Parts: sequence; structure tokens; C-alpha cells
Amino acid sequence: MNTMQRLMRGCLVKIGPFLAKRCSCCGVTKEIEKFQDDNSKASGVRSWCAVCMRKADTARRRKPRT
Ligand SMILES: [Zn+2]
Repeated sequence: MNTMQRLMRGCLVKIGPFLAKRCSCCGVTKEIEKFQDDNSKASGVRSWCAVCMRKADTARRRKPRT
């Protein structure tokens, strides 16, 4: 499996000196530092980046319009 395929599967990939991962929400590949730790995951980090997590959190707090 090449680097691109691993990224598309949400695997941790080493790019130069960095460990990176593709956010399954926004689809952007980011450094591992941009993801929050999650020990319940095999990769050890969340599948969503911190930006997406924050957005989801903000949306959740907003009262839904019915
Ligand atoms: Zn994201």
C-alpha cells in the first residue's frame, strides 16, 4: 500500500519528519499534532482534526431549530 492509499484509509503516514493523518471530516491531511489524542482508537488519535471537532462541538451547543 502506498502513502496515498494509507492516507485515504485514515492511517497515520510518515511524511518526511512528520507524522500526518487525513481528517475524515474535512478530508485535509494534517500533522498529527492537529488531532486530539484518543487512546480508544488504534491510531491513538481522533479521526477528526481539532478544527472539525471544535466546529462539531459548537454546532452541538447551538440549540436546534425545529
Ligand atoms: Zn478536519
